[in-house]
Amino acid sequence: MPSLVEILKQSEHFLRNKGIVTAKLDAELLLAHLLRYNRLSLHLHLHDNMKDQSLSQLQQLLSRRGNREPLQYIVGKVDFYGLSIAVDRNVLIPRHETEEFVDIIISRFGNRPVRSILDLGTGSGAIGLALAKHFTKANVLAVDANQNALLMAQKNAMRNEITNIRFMVSDWLEGIDETFDMIISNPPYLTNEEFENAQDEIKNFEPKCALVSKNNGLADIFKIISTTGRSLAKDGVLALETGSSQHESIASFAKDYFGKFESMYDLNGENRFVFLQI
Ligand code: GLN
Repeated sequence: MPSLVEILKQSEHFLRNKGIVTAKLDAELLLAHLLRYNRLSLHLHLHDNMKDQSLSQLQQLLSRRGNREPLQYIVGKVDFYGLSIAVDRNVLIPRHETEEFVDIIISRFGNRPVRSILDLGTGSGAIGLALAKHFTKANVLAVDANQNALLMAQKNAMRNEITNIRFMVSDWLEGIDETFDMIISNPPYLTNEEFENAQDEIKNFEPKCALVSKNNGLADIFKIISTTGRSLAKDGVLALETGSSQHESIASFAKDYFGKFESMYDLNGENRFVFLQI
């Protein structure tokens, strides 16, 4: 029977031949996932032998990754802002930029008495759950137009034992008549062309409706900006994650609806987040 260290070498080689740049890391993460180890314990067991049954299971995982299925869908989860978020193909894989978005929101508003938060297009629930965990006194409402996404978000609330959050099927603000101190969203904002040029992991596996928006990627952002005003409490804030080349268009569109517009960079120096207040 081959040892784990040999298996890892072969797995890395297989993935590298398939053009996976992170072949070594991915091979380790898939093997660790299969054996229910974390990466550290995997390294402590490198000279153990691999059972035949595990080997054939590993081959299946490797072949999925070789077909460019994102690692996060194969292992079924991703770490997001200290939470373990389960993901499948119904939901977008939460991104690092979105963790930055949550971080900025918490550093700017973390000390305010925020009582109500609306997460529009919650997907896996990542943003809503991270904010619910931080703003323990706030009631969070997380909505999504896709029932399957909401089931995943609900599962993630249970998985992380977060209870100050409710879920509702809604197409953006349709049917919502409460007001909120904070409305946040990471809506679809890619153009069709950007999507077509994206890597296979994105193009062939992630839900297109969570990524692409009409009108050069701006349709959903504009819809949110033009309809959220009535749902914001006094001094409430609308915070959006956006595409990096969209801020000029957003600022000019938002003038009719909001008095204050602020644009913020992500860690790559791209204009990524907007904060709007009436
Ligand atoms: N709110 C989720 C996230 O940020 C989903 C976003 C989306 O599907 N556009 O990951």
